Amino acid sequence: GPRLILVLGDQLTADVAALRAARPGDVVVMAEVMAEGTYVPHHPQKIALILSAMRHFAEDLRAAGWQVAYSRLDEAENTQSIAGELIRRAAEVGAREVIATAPGDWRLRAALAECPIPVRMLPDDRFLCSEAEFAAWAEGRKQLRMEFFYREMRRRTGLMMEGEKPAGGQWNFDHDNRKPAKADLFRPRPPRFAPDAVTEEVLALVEARFGTHFGAARPFGWAVTRGEALAALDCFARASLPTFGDEQDAMLAGDPTLSHALISPYLNLGLLSPMEVCRRVEAEWQAGRVPINAAEGFIRQIIGWREFVRGIWALEGPGYTGRNALGHKRALPAVYWGGATRMACMGHAVGQTRDMAYAHHIQRLMVTGNFALLAGVDPAEVHEWYLSVYVDAFEWVEAPNTIGMSQFADGGVVGSKPYVSSGAYIDRMSDYCGTCHYRVKEKTGARACPFNLLYWHFLIRHRDRFAANPRMAQMYRTWDRMEEGHRARVLREAEGFLARLDAGETL
Ligand code: FAD
Ligand code: SF4
Repeated sequence: GPRLILVLGDQLTADVAALRAARPGDVVVMAEVMAEGTYVPHHPQKIALILSAMRHFAEDLRAAGWQVAYSRLDEAENTQSIAGELIRRAAEVGAREVIATAPGDWRLRAALAECPIPVRMLPDDRFLCSEAEFAAWAEGRKQLRMEFFYREMRRRTGLMMEGEKPAGGQWNFDHDNRKPAKADLFRPRPPRFAPDAVTEEVLALVEARFGTHFGAARPFGWAVTRGEALAALDCFARASLPTFGDEQDAMLAGDPTLSHALISPYLNLGLLSPMEVCRRVEAEWQAGRVPINAAEGFIRQIIGWREFVRGIWALEGPGYTGRNALGHKRALPAVYWGGATRMACMGHAVGQTRDMAYAHHIQRLMVTGNFALLAGVDPAEVHEWYLSVYVDAFEWVEAPNTIGMSQFADGGVVGSKPYVSSGAYIDRMSDYCGTCHYRVKEKTGARACPFNLLYWHFLIRHRDRFAANPRMAQMYRTWDRMEEGHRARVLREAEGFLARLDAGETL
């Protein structure tokens, strides 16, 4: 008899394992369900993007001759969970087996494993490194370091390689990257795609059903088809890639996207594949249109970081999102959900997140992530926030970035030291501080930048853990050389700031 072929909302490619395993007569199941829309309060643009991309993809499948049983969110018969819809469709078509591609979310993997109809779960081979290959690479290593994993991936893919050697004689050109940026009215902007009728219908549905979630549904300009996603990649490769490396870590109040690609949602949904993206970037470099630091830096993000964090997520298993190595317990401050703040950097990072469901890596890591870590926020709450508010957020990539890289809650699996900084880093890389209520150069006093106070508070409260870390010893030496009265004042003022944060004051 027919089997059900499950295609989830982030598996939108004809190449996905379950579709490749299908036989004539099998029925494709796609389902919009409340359970997936509400397990965390996803940003309205994220929900709209997924639903619209699903509806477009279902049409493509039908046009290619597939039989698709598609459940719309507002259908009366919809059971509103993935397992419920599989049971309903199995009864309808007389199917006794489901073929699925493993979800990138432990909660859903468990739900499928417990489904009363047998589910055959195929590995998701859209990644360049399989879960098994990553586990083999990790086996026996004391520390997992992205840089070494990345070199293997360069060799394996042959990207930017000259025989056995990396192009340009170096694996990594980051010393040419990480510059501050200047406001530039003529800097190219990422393309926006006007909503078609399908997207408009989805937007109305999302506004009605998820209108209370943090974030604006409109203006909505994300690509919702493979064709549009390819156009977005093309624009990036032509216009922004040449300056990608230079501007990678910069932040500007008036320019939320700088030279970033904004393609993570398309990669994560399956509209673009990692290898095609890297081949395109490599070709731009080969044609002499972009510098080596830009092309190498970009390819490293995809075949290095993206694959590395996915491997860690798979290796660490379902308990990972509950890790809390530093024992942080503070509730997530209201500023993360749009509460008033006098900190310009936080206001800009959260504000653009609310408006666009997007912030680039350094905003996530060194502004909102840095603040949460310094303030000692419960990493589970931080994780839930990142998983909710970004258009590209799926557990397999969000959790290792948040729990691991940003909050050090895994105790050092993803990163060898915590990503923390005082206000000086933000000042160097952005134009935020100039308009801030706080003064980035002041170390103490009513107007002292909160990052300056909290930075030392963090280091001192975790001194036992970090003092022996050779990459952090210098910071402790700096602290120890400060005058004792000054040290006491910094810690006292940091305590005062945290107490006012807990009291819900506008800070
Ligand atoms: P660009 O800066 O243009 O980079 C190009 C591509 O490289 C991205 O599209 C992405 O696919 C990949 N990439 C870059 N850095 C990473 C990384 N650290 N991990 C995985 N892929 C990377 N990325 C997500 O896709 N989903 C998330 O939920 C997510 N959550 C994050 C949470 C925190 C706390 C932090 C610090 C980072 C997170 N990232 C996440 C990684 C990164 O911030 C985004 O991939 C990036 O900002 C996406 O925007 P872009 O396409 O413009 O990226
Ligand atoms: Fe952020 Fe401090 Fe700069 Fe204000 S002064 S923008 S709080 S880093």
